Formats: sequence, structure tokens, C-alpha cells
Amino acid sequence: MKFLIKDLGLDAFKALVEAEQQAIEFKTVTINEANYTASTPVIVQAPQVNIKNQKAFKLWQSTNVIPQKQTDYFAIGIKVLLGDFYTDKARLLADLVDNYAAGEIRLTLRQNIVIPFVKLDLIPFFYQELKKLGFADPGYNKAVDITACPGTDTCNLGISSSTGIAQELERVIKTEYPQYLENKDLVIKISGCMNACGQHNMANIGFQGMSIRTKDKLVAPALQVLLGGGNKGNGTATFADKVVKVPSRRGPEALRRVLNDYEANTNGKLFAAYYQEKGEKYFYDLLRDLSSIDNLTPEDFIDWGTKETYIKAIGVGECAGVVIDLIATLFLESEEKIEEAKAAFENKVYSGAIYEAYRSMVNSAKALLLSENISTNTQAGIISQFEELFVDTKKMDLGCSFSDLIYQIKEQPPTEDFAINYIKSAEAFLTIVRESRAQEMAKRI
Ligand code: SF4
Repeated sequence: MKFLIKDLGLDAFKALVEAEQQAIEFKTVTINEANYTASTPVIVQAPQVNIKNQKAFKLWQSTNVIPQKQTDYFAIGIKVLLGDFYTDKARLLADLVDNYAAGEIRLTLRQNIVIPFVKLDLIPFFYQELKKLGFADPGYNKAVDITACPGTDTCNLGISSSTGIAQELERVIKTEYPQYLENKDLVIKISGCMNACGQHNMANIGFQGMSIRTKDKLVAPALQVLLGGGNKGNGTATFADKVVKVPSRRGPEALRRVLNDYEANTNGKLFAAYYQEKGEKYFYDLLRDLSSIDNLTPEDFIDWGTKETYIKAIGVGECAGVVIDLIATLFLESEEKIEEAKAAFENKVYSGAIYEAYRSMVNSAKALLLSENISTNTQAGIISQFEELFVDTKKMDLGCSFSDLIYQIKEQPPTEDFAINYIKSAEAFLTIVRESRAQEMAKRI
């Protein structure tokens, strides 16, 4: 969406959103608050706890326990490395919060977990139990708490590793800059590509996965270092500046340089203010030599978190390493969307039913375009390309133009009658494109 808004401008984007309002069945929805009970903390005697390492407990308490506005209650923040949370731990955590808090957890933007409504005398017990689960790391929402998208681990759009470098940077902070375990004013975020799922451009220090090409045409994993971004509160924020691109292996050194410089010269200023004062050029000069590709070592060609030599490859989505019949899979997805449309219709959510039927038609059209090796991008593009290639040329007879058929969604109010007819249209369309594909395949045999 951010790229679209950049291309169109905010006003044009808003106008397009406005034009789609017709398809929304309900403009306002009444919510009965009585159906949503407030958290009810349990009243329980605090079990006996014997914490041997009081220093570690105090540190955890100072970084991970937050007083709530409700008197006598505290929220406990769990720092979840990379947001990886497994079912065995989830079950134990669920028992813990059911029995000793309010039976409720919150998942947070920074890939963490919050347990609200913990009584003061239960905090040592929670510490002991969370420690058993490996969930008592100090530094919740502090500088050491680095956010990272999945990057090249599972996302085919990832260009270089974000999780591997995140773990290494956390290690650097814990071992070399322990004072940042308690610093909540410095935010570090990492994304594996420019799509910014890790929100690196909204961080004080951000890293974005890239690649770097040497003069010998070798390719190494790299990181764009971004500085000075952040959420300022009250609905305002600053986008980070792209300062310099460095080979990924030098990411930790880039962080050290920035932190060392900040420590030496900050005079008590927060990082955001310090960056504003010094400016992009100052930090570019500070990091510039790290961008050199004249002195790369063999290690620079191995990304963080892997032992393999780096290969730059971008795929189509999250489906990694599986060989599939893409066209057949798209047809199955179209079927699923029709089923979802019918389910929504049964539930009398007509706007939802219409939307799923629309998605089915777009998906079916995309399948046929892909079978002709035509790459597709936007939904509008799919509709116009399909029209041109199959309907205008009379390869396919829909009884009307494809855009007239599919864009009824814009013209018609989301009534029950329209929903049922539109679902039937999606089913008929899927049958037609499937037959067309089958005939094409028969010709090729
Ligand atoms: S699209 Fe890019 S930013 Fe988003 S998860 Fe994949 S690699 Fe990360």
C-alpha cells in the first residue's frame, strides 16, 4: 500500500477507497459491550518461591514488569526471540495465565507477549515459571529486543537473512553493551527486503536485506543501514534515512560504530534527537568504509544463520522449495473462494460473499493468463489483460465483456439477490476457464 500511495498520492488513493464504499454492506456496526467481558483476574494465594539469583530477577523485574493503571496490577512482558512461539510452550503459558492471572495474553507489534493483570505478590512466582519456559529474558521492548521479519528463512521475497543478523546483533548488545538491556529509547528493526514487514524504516536503527555485487560479478548478502526513523507518538513518525549499504557480515560492526559514537557524544540526548542533530552525512562518513567491496573475505559470501554460500534468488511467495502445478492450484483456490462465498452467503454476510466471488473470478482469470506465460500484477491488470487476450479475441464467450461481468461488484448494492447471482457467475466463469485450459492441454498432447 505504501508504494501505491507513493505512486498515486494520498488524495487519489482516498478517492479510490471512497469509490469502493458501495461494496460495503454495513457502514456502522453496533457493538454490545456486554458481550465482551472485561478481564477478570483470579484471586490466588502466591505460592512459595525461592529465587537464587536475585540480581537477575531484579533486572528482569525492572525491564519486563510494567505497572498497570488498575491499582495493584502489573503487566509482564515476555521478550520472544524473533517472535518464535511454539505450541508446547503456549499450552504451559495458557495454564499459567489461566490459574494465576486473568486468563489472557496479548501479542504485540514487536513480536512479544504481554500477560496483563498479575498481582504484585505473584511476580516472583511468574518469574520462576516463565524461566522454566525460557521466557524470562530481560530487555522487553528495550534496545536489545530486536524485531525481524522472517526474511530468507521462509519468505521467498527475502533478499538476505534478517533473523540471523537479528540474533547476532542481540548477542552483540547483550555481551558488549549490557547497558542497552534497560534502554527503551533505542529501537532496532530488521527486514529481509524493501517491503519492510519488520518495519525497519520506522526504527532508530534499521537494517534492510539487500545484495551486493563485486567487480568479479560475485554476489554477497548485504544490509542497507537506515538511521533516524521512529514512532514519535500522537500519530506522528519519522521515516529513517538510507545511510549506507554494507555487506551483511559487517552489520554488527556498523551497529558498534553507531552505538560507540552515540555513547561518546550523546550528552544525554535520545538517539532520535542525536541523529537529527548530526545528520545523514555525518553517519555516512562514520560508516562509509564498511561499504567497500574491494576487501571482501570468503566469509562475506555466507549470510548470517547459514553455512552455505549466498545465492540471490527471489521467488513468488511463501511457498518455498515445493514443485506444484501452479495453474491447477490456482483453480483449486478459485473453488475454495467460491465455497467461502457460499459460507458467507449462508451467514447472510452478503458483502463478504460478493467479495469472495469476485476474488474467485480474478484468481481464475490469473490462472489462465499464467498458463499463457503472461505475468500478472494487479487485479485491474489481470482483468484488462484477460479481456484483451481471451474475450476481445473471441477465444472465450462469456456472453458479455469480462469487465462488465466482474465489475458489477462496483455497480450493484450488496443485496441477497445480487450475491447469489454473482456467486453463480463466479462458478460459471471457473467452469469456462477450466474447459478452456483442458482443451488447450489436449491440443498440446
Ligand atoms: S516480504 Fe520482505 S520484508 Fe516482508 S517478510 Fe518477506 S523478506 Fe521480510
